Amino acid sequence: MTPSILIIYTGGTIGMKHDAKSGALVPFNFRQIEEEVPELQKFGYHIDSISFTPLVDSSDITPHFWIKLAQTIQVHYDRYDGFVILIGTDTMAYTASALSFMLEDLEKPVIFTGSQLPIGILRTDGKENFISSVEIAAARRNDGTPQVPEVCVFFENQLFRGNRTTKDNAEQFHAFRSPNLPPLAQAGIQIKYNHHLIRYPQEWGKPLKVHAKVCNDLATIKIFPGIQEKTVNAILNISGLRAVIIETYGSGNAPTQPWLIAALQQAITRGVIIYNVTQCQAGSVAMEMYATGVLLKDAGVIGGYDITVEAAISKLILLTGQYANNDDVITAIDKNLRGEISI
Ligand code: ASP
Repeated sequence: MTPSILIIYTGGTIGMKHDAKSGALVPFNFRQIEEEVPELQKFGYHIDSISFTPLVDSSDITPHFWIKLAQTIQVHYDRYDGFVILIGTDTMAYTASALSFMLEDLEKPVIFTGSQLPIGILRTDGKENFISSVEIAAARRNDGTPQVPEVCVFFENQLFRGNRTTKDNAEQFHAFRSPNLPPLAQAGIQIKYNHHLIRYPQEWGKPLKVHAKVCNDLATIKIFPGIQEKTVNAILNISGLRAVIIETYGSGNAPTQPWLIAALQQAITRGVIIYNVTQCQAGSVAMEMYATGVLLKDAGVIGGYDITVEAAISKLILLTGQYANNDDVITAIDKNLRGEISI
């Protein structure tokens, strides 16, 4: 059967051109993107597209945009075999992470891609990224099930699990890394899928569930040498705060100053969730390893294993939206919901 693919164009560099007046990059419409990639027709797939209004630079994306995107996929879920989301790279890792948590029992590929150079520019990386993403969204295994029924990011020949990605390069074509999980596929002469890493449903045929409630009453505290008590307290005492991500050193360590531990402990007693994520790009939080981490653990801080900051923020926005009770959030945050942590 001819694969049916839905392209959802939201904005980003891939669809921008230089404004004649200001010289700055501004979005152009999807027809112009299509004209730049006539090769897509050669697949022989049934390809439809939807453009968001307004088209946005991904720096302007909010959790409400995530809801709009998840609901767009939900509305069209039964009619298409796969989805390709064209989006800006700046917050792609956040949006891909969020969508992975929003789409439960997903059985179809949802591939995020974009580019570092606009698609109309001769040396663009956008064409390659776009064409390969469409091929991956349509790819089937011998039994007819999709090769990658996950939310992914495809960029510069690599397919990553979306909630494992981070943008780590503003200049090179390889803009994304997945520091704690190897690529799910690599595009060379052929697209090679690493099946042992891809998450397949245990049983196919479940309906898609969409979690579309969000709450952004959260904050991050990046620990640094010399961080002050007044700064930490100002953040921990924000009214309505439900969760804080502390970005710690190494395997989840923070200064042992009593004021810091006391401040965290008091916040936890008031019902604020404190989630420990390492500042290191690779590796995992293991608070039991050093005395500096044990203090945090004993204070009631929850370890984030090897989750990225982007996935941690998205996971908390979704879970605090879903559950009014923080005990339910804590139970869920500790679970590997969509392959975002290695336990
Ligand atoms: N500022 C752009 C965006 O995220 C950058 C890009 O697309 O690469 O929308």
